[in-house]
Amino acid sequence: MTTAIPIDLGNRIHLIDGIDLGISERTGTYVIQEENITLIETCASSSIPHILKGLDSLQIDLMEVKYIIVTHVHLDHAGGAGLLMEKCPNAKLVVHPRGARHMIDPSRLIQGAKAVYGPQFDSLFKPILPVPEERVMIKDDNETLQISANCELLFLDTPGHANHHFSIYDPISNGIFIGDTLGVQHKQIEEFGFKLYLPATSPNQFDPDKTLQSLERIKNLGVERIYFGHFSVAENVQEVYSQIQHWLPIYVKTGEDVYREGKSVDELVKRLLEKISIVLDKYNVPKNHVIYKILQMDLQVFSMGLLDYFSKKEKSEVK
Ligand SMILES: [Zn+2]
Repeated sequence: MTTAIPIDLGNRIHLIDGIDLGISERTGTYVIQEENITLIETCASSSIPHILKGLDSLQIDLMEVKYIIVTHVHLDHAGGAGLLMEKCPNAKLVVHPRGARHMIDPSRLIQGAKAVYGPQFDSLFKPILPVPEERVMIKDDNETLQISANCELLFLDTPGHANHHFSIYDPISNGIFIGDTLGVQHKQIEEFGFKLYLPATSPNQFDPDKTLQSLERIKNLGVERIYFGHFSVAENVQEVYSQIQHWLPIYVKTGEDVYREGKSVDELVKRLLEKISIVLDKYNVPKNHVIYKILQMDLQVFSMGLLDYFSKKEKSEVK
């Protein structure tokens, strides 16, 4: 098993790579080393061995892990929660009010993910274990969590990617853990001298208006760091906001066109990939670079979310 060394992000925060699908810099678990050891995101179950190894190399005793926070209950963020909670017997799982029941009884989560991922489900996500109800802690909008005498995390309801999504503000780093609220940071192409931030429009609660409202809310906090679910930290926060504000309407418009024309998910993937390729070509990213494999996988799910959004919108307008 190849396991990366935890990345030191400064401000007593490390990031352990979950090596999702054998690919690095895709999913990860943040470790905040305060009096009460706090983890953010668990990744999928298949990543848990990497997370445990990472904690071991940080010399963290699993008995000392006090809080495991998941930004939302999609399986690439929270699928491994049940398994990790078994390994960390003194931890509480901290989750959005709308996500809690799915962590306690993951059956609907499993059903939903099977609808999106089809036959790949088992290899991607199994096993998904329930979390005992008494170990689940709910955080509403604007509630806080004291993780040491001088550090209180603040929870903000940030829908758009999903309705069961919150973001976590950390005053020590003046940073915010945004899960998928502000899309994906593609670290893989940074060697070509540019940054790429793309929206995450997964099924089945994606809402572009809510995404932009959450973006404004985060922007108004004046943070200096954005910690992505995928992947790692960004300190050029204005660039993140402006790229998401640039790409989101493009995704939505392209999605709407494909929906109105009655075309398939594959067609939407193709059109979005064409638009992103223009930028990748400009920076001479070769066509066989891993970013294309990653975009193909991501855009498949994001295109489903876009078409699902327009299908729901049409139904609600007909009513
Ligand atoms: Zn995600």
